[in-house]
Amino acid sequence: MDLYSYIRDVPDFPKPGIVFKDITPLLEHGPALKDALDRMVEDARTLEIDKVAGIESRGFLFGVPIAAALGLGFIPVRKAGKLPFHTNQVEYALEYGTATVEMHIDALQKGERVLLVDDLMATGGTMVAASRLVEAAGGVVTSCNVLVDLSFLNGRKALGNKRFHTVLAYD
Ligand code: AMP
Repeated sequence: MDLYSYIRDVPDFPKPGIVFKDITPLLEHGPALKDALDRMVEDARTLEIDKVAGIESRGFLFGVPIAAALGLGFIPVRKAGKLPFHTNQVEYALEYGTATVEMHIDALQKGERVLLVDDLMATGGTMVAASRLVEAAGGVVTSCNVLVDLSFLNGRKALGNKRFHTVLAYD
């Protein structure tokens, strides 16, 4: 199945010069959604992991079904101020300004192996910040997996030697 045909380019969103990769056509199409998730689960099955962490908000759409398919727990990585209990925070640079992500301090046991999931990687800054949260909570990042990699932005480099997997790549 050609999943690329279910990703819509929206120019100048959310601001001029950005081409937004809109995944809603894929989400709305049952067979495409199933194929995308099957491919993400297939890779995740090859890993020795204890938990799946998904990054707000589109990372939840893929992270929870992957965790459920593997019978593993899911950890939400959320934007600042959304999680109700005590959190660790990591602030990171965006193109303009900064963003902060958080994880509950008790989300992980020491040494637990985590699969990080998001819908898309661009510069890799969000994935690196989420990795730091996993490590701050005592966990170890086993792999960073996405549906879409904007590989021309070279986010993989930001991940250093961490394992990375994508279903779709834009060179
Ligand atoms: P980055 O931290 O630069 O890797 O950005 C990744 C995060 O921003 C992900 O959570 C994506 O959902 C979102 N994002 C960044 N760029 C785009 C884009 N061109 N289209 C869709 N989502 C994007």
